[in-house]
Amino acid sequence: MNFYYSISKLRQKLLLKNIEILYRRNKINPPNFVVWDSTKRCNLDCIHCGSQENQQKELNTKEIEDVLDQLASFGVRNFQITGGEPLLREDFIEVVNYAAKKGLNTSFASNGYYIDEDKVKSVSKANVSLIQISIDGIKEVHNSIRKNQESFDKAINAIELLKKHSDAKIGVSTVVMPQNIDTLGQLEGTLISLNIDFWNIGTVMPVGKAKDNTSLFLSKEQFSCLMRFIIDSKKAINIEIGENFPYLGKWEKAIRRTPKICPIGIFSCCIGVNGHIRGCPDQPDTDYYREGNIQTETFKEIWEKAFERYRNRDILREDKKCSVCNHKSNCFGGCWVMRENNLQCILSYTE
Ligand code: SF4
Ligand code: SF4
Repeated sequence: MNFYYSISKLRQKLLLKNIEILYRRNKINPPNFVVWDSTKRCNLDCIHCGSQENQQKELNTKEIEDVLDQLASFGVRNFQITGGEPLLREDFIEVVNYAAKKGLNTSFASNGYYIDEDKVKSVSKANVSLIQISIDGIKEVHNSIRKNQESFDKAINAIELLKKHSDAKIGVSTVVMPQNIDTLGQLEGTLISLNIDFWNIGTVMPVGKAKDNTSLFLSKEQFSCLMRFIIDSKKAINIEIGENFPYLGKWEKAIRRTPKICPIGIFSCCIGVNGHIRGCPDQPDTDYYREGNIQTETFKEIWEKAFERYRNRDILREDKKCSVCNHKSNCFGGCWVMRENNLQCILSYTE
């Protein structure tokens, strides 16, 4: 395990070095994947929602199809759709079909509420490769977090239909918080019986409704419990740790087979609801994070000229703690979203 990790770390170093050399020569490769924050609308009202509804005008079908044309011709291969609840867009199936026509490998995240047999057939025809359904606990806990008494059964039904009729990889994403951490073991049993392909486990990010709600964040002890739970469970179920912890400090090698890095500006970016481009969908859609707008410039123009602070790793010089940290070549300053409330540093969960 450690040997495999060490080889992967070496590969990561060489890849980043190569990207840095190309970057200095003004050669920027297209991103591996682009996420589309398709809508802020949602049928649920989760206590930890980071995607607060606002009045932004959504890109219309023609506009997003134009973006897909640009992504395909620029050489982007992977297109991920998130929200809000993407299936609330009336043109959702039309857009995934268009993405398939352009040769893009499409995936999406959903609460599963609107997934019925017809939708499953449509997404199967559009060759969607991966679908992630949110489940935040056993039935009572999930329904209470999502403030909807039908939401758990709908999510389970969606997974069963998808497993039966679709070739896509089907995963579950769970956001762990003090409200559900004690029932993770029970949820694990349910997910194993559903035979899902992967279980993505993350923690609450301090944005949207969760920004100032400290009751949603794990204590140091709870975070350690979560790490131990993952180490114990990963033989029984394929667990991926959520991307808001790109580095796990002392738990890293016991949990991950390969090292991660925040992918913003190197491997990925996000197209916001009304066309603003930012690093990732969990970053607030504010001027600070915006790098350009797809309605005034092309995707290629924005990608090639923006994202400098991520590519230059400015944070490792600007942040006093990161600049002198022994972990900086593994952690790279952690997650930008967690940084919103100074929750990004893995050392604060271990020391
Ligand atoms: S100080 Fe910075 S680089 Fe070091 S572990 Fe914390 S976030 Fe990562
Ligand atoms: S900012 Fe955080 S959540 Fe967003 S891509 Fe980077 S590590 Fe992932």
